[in-house]
Amino acid sequence: MPTEGHTGRKIIYDEDGKPCRSCNTLLDFKFATGRITSRAALPERAGRESRTIPAQELIPGSKSYAKVEPPDVVELGNSSWNLLHSITATYPSKPSEQKKAEMKQFLTIFSHIYPCSWCARDFEKFIEQNAPKVDSREDLGRWMCEAHNAVNEKLGKEKFDCNFWAKRWKDGWDEN
Ligand SMILES: Cc1cc2nc3c(=O)[nH]c(=O)nc-3n(C[C@H](O)[C@H](O)[C@H](O)COP(=O)(O)OP(=O)(O)OC[C@H]3O[C@@H](n4cnc5c(N)ncnc54)[C@H](O)[C@@H]3O)c2cc1C
Repeated sequence: MPTEGHTGRKIIYDEDGKPCRSCNTLLDFKFATGRITSRAALPERAGRESRTIPAQELIPGSKSYAKVEPPDVVELGNSSWNLLHSITATYPSKPSEQKKAEMKQFLTIFSHIYPCSWCARDFEKFIEQNAPKVDSREDLGRWMCEAHNAVNEKLGKEKFDCNFWAKRWKDGWDEN
């Protein structure tokens, strides 16, 4: 059982001792499960939606659905931030008390059920120590940006300038 994957990350195992798919990158998961020994063996991810899918890669009986793998920690994270920031972007500027309560509840529940268990534990802690700011869209947008930056920092990534959260997730970059 390897302790470190191709990416240099620690391999995370489930309680039952199997490599955890949603806690590891696809590359490390495949490495840990002995499916690949080199990066060259990885399937292409980019552009898979636009190319014609060879018949043997399609789900039996389907004309259009490829046998896509379940999401790894990176794909899951990316999709989840897309969802979280997008929810934030459509949160009211002046939310009702009910909306505020729902958002707090949602974030608490989200942190309990996030599929990457070790990511979820840290997100739970972040929420405990930094109560979600739900009084307005701007407050929530900045809070979400800071929550995302806490993960960026943990992963050694550049912090995002939260002054741009609304452009990135709500308004876009056109000046007009
Ligand atoms: C709640 C949660 C906890 C996570 N915890 C972990 C963890 O413990 N370990 C782990 O390996 N992965 C974790 N992830 C996944 C991780 O944060 C990334 O999503 C993943 O590594 C993919 O990164 P990425 O480079 O595609 O960009 P992402 O971090 O997914 O970001 C997507 C896009 O969001 C924008 N962005 C970046 N930072 C911010 C910000 N602060 N505010 C607004 N927009 C921003 C940028 O345009 C970026 O391209 C977690 C994800 C979530 C949702």
